[in-house]
Order: sequence, then C-alpha cells, then structure tokens
Amino acid sequence: MAKRDYYEVLGVSKNASDADLKKAYRKLAMKFHPDRNPDDDSAEEKFKEVKEAHDILSDAQKRATYDQFGHAGVENSMGGGGGGGAGFGDIFDSVFGDIFGGGGGGRGGERVYRGADLRYELGLTLEEAVAGTTVKIRVPKQVECEPCNGTGAKKGSEPVSCTTCNGVGQVRMQQGFFSVQQTCPQCRGAGKMIKDPCTACRGQGRVRDNKTISVKVPPGVDTGDRIRLSGEGEAGQNRGPSGDLYVDVAVKEHSIFTRDDSDLHCEVPISFATAALGGEFEVPTLDGRVKLKIPAESQSGKMFRLRGKGVKSVRGSMKGDLLCRIVVETPVNLSKKQKELLRDFDKAMGADSEKHSPQASSWLDGVKKFFDSMTQ
Ligand SMILES: [Zn+2]
Ligand SMILES: [Zn+2]
Repeated sequence: MAKRDYYEVLGVSKNASDADLKKAYRKLAMKFHPDRNPDDDSAEEKFKEVKEAHDILSDAQKRATYDQFGHAGVENSMGGGGGGGAGFGDIFDSVFGDIFGGGGGGRGGERVYRGADLRYELGLTLEEAVAGTTVKIRVPKQVECEPCNGTGAKKGSEPVSCTTCNGVGQVRMQQGFFSVQQTCPQCRGAGKMIKDPCTACRGQGRVRDNKTISVKVPPGVDTGDRIRLSGEGEAGQNRGPSGDLYVDVAVKEHSIFTRDDSDLHCEVPISFATAALGGEFEVPTLDGRVKLKIPAESQSGKMFRLRGKGVKSVRGSMKGDLLCRIVVETPVNLSKKQKELLRDFDKAMGADSEKHSPQASSWLDGVKKFFDSMTQ
C-alpha cells in the first residue's frame, strides 16, 4: 500500500507552522488513541500513521528532506528513539509524554513502557448505584518493586547500558537490500542490562500484588457506565507510567424494580375484587412508600405513572418516574365456600355478560364471525 503524504495525514498545508503541526497532531492523536478506541483496530494503525507523520515533520531537518525527496528521503531516519517497528508501549509513552506533559519519559536512551490498563467489573445493588457509594476493591496487579524502586537492579547497584545496542534498545539488521530496525535481542528493547538483579522481583522491576483501591461511585450510575482511575492500572516497565484502571459498573437485579435510564418499573399484583371495585395501594419507591390510587374497573396490565419517583441518571439532572403496572391475580387455593360464592357471582353476571365483560363478548363475537366465514 502506498504511503500517504505526511501533510495529508495530519490534515495541514505544506507551509504549516510548527504550532499548526503540533495542534493537528494532538487533536488526531487524541482521536485515534487506542485507549479511546478499544473496539477499532484501524484506530491503532491511524494512530501510528499520525505519530510517524508528526515525528518527521516536527524535525526541521527531516521535514526539509521529506519536502524535497518524499518518503524515500526519510525512510532510514525512522527509528532511533521510536518509529518504524516500534512496539505499542513506547507509542503510549510518547503520546502521554507529549500531550500530558512529562509522563515518565525514560532517562537517556532507555525505553520505558506504560503499564497495561486493567478492567474490573463492579457489582452494585440498585440502591447503591442510585445513591452513589464508595467501595474498596482488591485488584491483583503488577506494582513497582519497592526494594529496587522498579529498576530491577539489586539495592546499591545500577542497571548498565546494553552493550549490543549501546543503550538504544534497537539494532539495525541487514535483510537483502533493506536495513531494518529491530528490537535488541540482548536487552529486549530496554536499552540496559542488569548485572546484579534485585532478588525481590528477579530483575523485573515489578512484582504481583493485591492492591486495595477505593472507588468513588457517583450517584445515578447504571450497568455499562465506566469509571476511570488514572494510574491505577499495572506499573510500567523500566519505571514507565502506570496504566489506568477501568471500573465497569454492573447493577444487580432488584427484587421489585427494573430500571430504564431514569425511570423505574414495577409490577403490582392486585386482587380481582380490587381491580373491579378500585382501591388505594401502598407501593414501594426507593425513598419510601407512596400511595397509589387504583380506580374501579381497572384492567390487568394498566400502567400508572408516579411522577418524580424514579431515579436521577448520572448524566441527567431530572428525576424520572416510577411506572407501576397492575396485574390482576387469579385467586388460588379457594375454599368450598369461596368457590360457591364465585359460582353464584358468575350466575348473577350470566344474563348481562355483554355489559360486564365487554372485551370477552366482543372477542366471542369475533370468534363466531371467524367460524361463520370458514363454513361459508
Ligand atoms: Zn540492547
Ligand atoms: Zn526489585
């Protein structure tokens, strides 16, 4: 695939100033940052493309060469500190270093890697999610090794520069006509070697540990909401910046309510007699009981809306409603006496069924018409 023009990649003109380049780069780097596009593989490619374009154009000499000779002129200048076949880790570093200022850029030619992001699923009750809460969670993760301060070298000693790559972390290999950059096989890109490794972390600079982290959950969160705890992910390698911890909220099922954004729904079973005669009912809300008036002749499935008795979503400012759906319950476990009364009641209805059960009679009419049309 042909390489796109660097100016085109950044969306700037050929005579863009350094400030213009930086501005365009920041905007695009934020847009295509893999952190922000976890489900989009193409974002990573675009991100690398943007970074490469910026690397070249932000360097006055490389830019001049590129302007004159195009991609061929700067092909071999990629690499060194980053670029070409650079791993994911250092791309993270450079963006964070560049955009957020500092962010643990390595010392000298040493490569640092940002720690991995972590995801934690936090189960909450509906009440906790609506009111907000602070929970302590235990997160198993890589943390910086304390005895060696993350250097991996035994206390009192220091890592030394890698002799194979002279501390650059990359080596140039000849492959036919091409000279390619590769991660140094000796130090695996770290640019340094540890002569006397720390015993606590075996020279890794990081150890696995269970960390207790306090998570502040804002009121109104719902399943699918995500809380980001910056820097609470895994420790970086070679003292690089830590990753982030993403806490994904999952609200447990409630015995009474189901939530739909800022509305709450519930079902209220009522007796056949109450449905027919009407009555007043106490229904639960998250802030206590309220009275629900059910008019006479209410049919099963009828919905009643209690304004403002829902919840406030984390993004909204208005409280939603509580929607109560009444369900007429057929009586069970009837005594002989009760059954008799019902039969008498049914008999009393018999002559006037059309009047008392309009739905049933219109349905029966429909059924009759249906059979009539079949037999014609
Ligand atoms: Zn090396
Ligand atoms: Zn250590």
